[in-house]
Amino acid sequence: MPGGTIIKALSGFYYVKTDTGVVRCRGRGVFRKKNISPLVGDVVKFRAESDSEGYIIEIESRKNELVRPPIANVDQGILVFSAKNPDFNTTLLDRFLVVIESKKIKPVIVVTKIDLLAPEERERIDKFRSIYRSIGYETIFLSSKTGLGLDEVKPIFDGNVSVFAGQSGVGKSTLINALRPDLQLKTSSISKHLGRGKHTTRHVELLEIGSGFVADTPGFSAIDFDGIGTGELGMYFPEIREKMPDCKFRNCLHVSEPKCAVKEAVETYQIQSFRYKHYLMFLQEIQERKQRY
Ligand code: GDP
Ligand code: ZN
Repeated sequence: MPGGTIIKALSGFYYVKTDTGVVRCRGRGVFRKKNISPLVGDVVKFRAESDSEGYIIEIESRKNELVRPPIANVDQGILVFSAKNPDFNTTLLDRFLVVIESKKIKPVIVVTKIDLLAPEERERIDKFRSIYRSIGYETIFLSSKTGLGLDEVKPIFDGNVSVFAGQSGVGKSTLINALRPDLQLKTSSISKHLGRGKHTTRHVELLEIGSGFVADTPGFSAIDFDGIGTGELGMYFPEIREKMPDCKFRNCLHVSEPKCAVKEAVETYQIQSFRYKHYLMFLQEIQERKQRY
């Protein structure tokens, strides 16, 4: 039976990308009864009615599922941050990293607009790159203007379903256009906002890049820590996660407990103090939210 990946859902049709093309499929009542409906990103089997039409009869079980945007089987979150305009923001980056880690999606950090940096500014950004790399995050410098980093960015899409995250204006559309010049996505943030009214329904679509797919709309826009508990937060900072087993108390939150291996690692510069500061900031946010409800 033929199969493929749903790359678009529109007006009751599911567009399934197969090895040979795109087949327009309908779902079947079966799914409604089971209370699941096909999602973009689903790997499905379908019965073909012609070369271009069919109906879905089976959905493979999902690895995960995002709500915004509604996509199944997301492998990778590409966190796009500009080095400048807007300025590189580690607080926001760490927020995204925590949210993505909590969803068991692999993060990749892409720092855009490197061409805009003066030499002394470049040094600061270089330092951040080595910090995030030492934590274990793949971190790529990019300039869509000079082409720097494009060869490094290309292969990360292969074989994966990726979702972008990042503020508007950091260069996400520009990057997609560099990889898929045929798409010609609108780039200036201003015209994009004009073109997209508040009440316009946004349909997600997966765009092919190399042998992978990327969602055409950024995800993770709601970056609160919904569903993340205080005791769990440390797990989403890999360098904190690594030290946690050595804390004296099993339920240590690494704030003011005695014999805390995390605090010791901060004092001996094994953990960056700005990362620890963000951990404390996020922890407080989670605690305050718990009190409110
Ligand atoms: P998006 O909102 O994240 O999709 O950002 P856009 O792709 O629309 O880019 C916003 C602005 O930044 C546009 O004016 C782009 O031309 C510019 N831009 C994007 N990437 C780069 C880059 O690497 N270097 C420079 N100098 N400008 C860039
Ligand atoms: Zn501790």
